[in-house]
Amino acid sequence: MTFTLDGLVRPNILKLLPYRCARDDYNGDGYIFLDANENAYGPSLGDYLDRQSLNRYPDPQQVAVKELVCKLRGGTLAVENVFCGVGSDEAIDCVMRVFCRPGQDKILVTPPTYGMYGVSATINDVGVVKVPLEGDRFQPNLHKVMDALKDTSIKIVFFCSPGNPTGELVDRDIIISVLESGWHGMVCVDEAYIDFSPQGSSLSTLVTKYPNLIVMQTLSKAFGLAAIRLGVAFASKEVATIMNSLKAPYNISTPTSDLAARALGDEGLSTMRENVRKLNANREALVRALLEVDGIGGVIGGTSANFIMAKVEKGNKVALAVYEQMAKEQGIVVRFRGNEHGCEGCLRVTVGTEEENSALLERLTRAFEVVGSLVKEDGAGKLQKELERELEVEKDKVLE
Ligand SMILES: *Cc1c(COP(=O)(O)O)cnc(C)c1O
Repeated sequence: MTFTLDGLVRPNILKLLPYRCARDDYNGDGYIFLDANENAYGPSLGDYLDRQSLNRYPDPQQVAVKELVCKLRGGTLAVENVFCGVGSDEAIDCVMRVFCRPGQDKILVTPPTYGMYGVSATINDVGVVKVPLEGDRFQPNLHKVMDALKDTSIKIVFFCSPGNPTGELVDRDIIISVLESGWHGMVCVDEAYIDFSPQGSSLSTLVTKYPNLIVMQTLSKAFGLAAIRLGVAFASKEVATIMNSLKAPYNISTPTSDLAARALGDEGLSTMRENVRKLNANREALVRALLEVDGIGGVIGGTSANFIMAKVEKGNKVALAVYEQMAKEQGIVVRFRGNEHGCEGCLRVTVGTEEENSALLERLTRAFEVVGSLVKEDGAGKLQKELERELEVEKDKVLE
């Protein structure tokens, strides 16, 4: 008898598709990548040439890095309040494994939101309840969230603040209301973009006040260190201890924690702040310029992150055609977000350097012209049909 995997792989795992991003479709030299919200100015580091004791296992507790992130965020945070993960993606997976029993429990998310909450839920065989964001500023509806939380199988609520892809901070009052509501579950706030937000926006120091709060941050965005894979979660000492007990002992490599410690030192922090200042200025200029582009009907976000969403006036098909035209013919990659709740026609654009943003504006304008003529010539509707098919394919992509 021939061997098959039938009945062997867990059914929830069998549903997974390999992670796909825009770089699978468009990669190589000569592209400008404005698709993944990386830092256009590079890492907050000087030269990195140290010899290291790479023959030794790394520090399992990453004490130096934890001390530095506590100092950065202030309040009464201590090393015992911190978990370090392989990106915040590991922290997301970790909290799900701590609080959600496979096949029984659920999380609550507020679409449009970061795709990894759903991916991690699927991997852990955890259900997902969705309560969409509302209004121009994409805020959670507190009443609807509390109503959904009557389902006692929900163990974690994820708020992404600033939101990906909305670029909007979640109102602090809404999060505090959930924290103080008496609901028996954990509130997880993903602050991946918090250093692009106005000073004082972070909730990280509140974990010493609210034992039901977890706040996640990462060095992947403002610090420009997506390659080293370092994320942190702040939580009560009790929760952080459980998370640290669950993780693989040597999850963070020595080169990663050394680089992270440098980035969190005085010199690294001043480079980070200077890059954030430049990117925030570039973002404001980009928003103004995008509003002048023929075919763009509006901009979402624009105050608190290193990306914005540009809304294509004519909707999803034109937006997708423009996205593909830019990537295939003009070597500039952004992200199509039109299939997400409340994001009809939206392209998510990472804020680049001044040169990159000028190239973006020029090529976007050109792409609208080209797509405009293609649509005009599309008598038999061949292009329309192709775009409809591609819109379906886009639905299977994870929202990163
Ligand atoms: C980019 C991003 C992350 C960061 O993930 P890492 O694993 O730390 O690189 C987390 N949350 C959101 C919302 C993001 O956009």
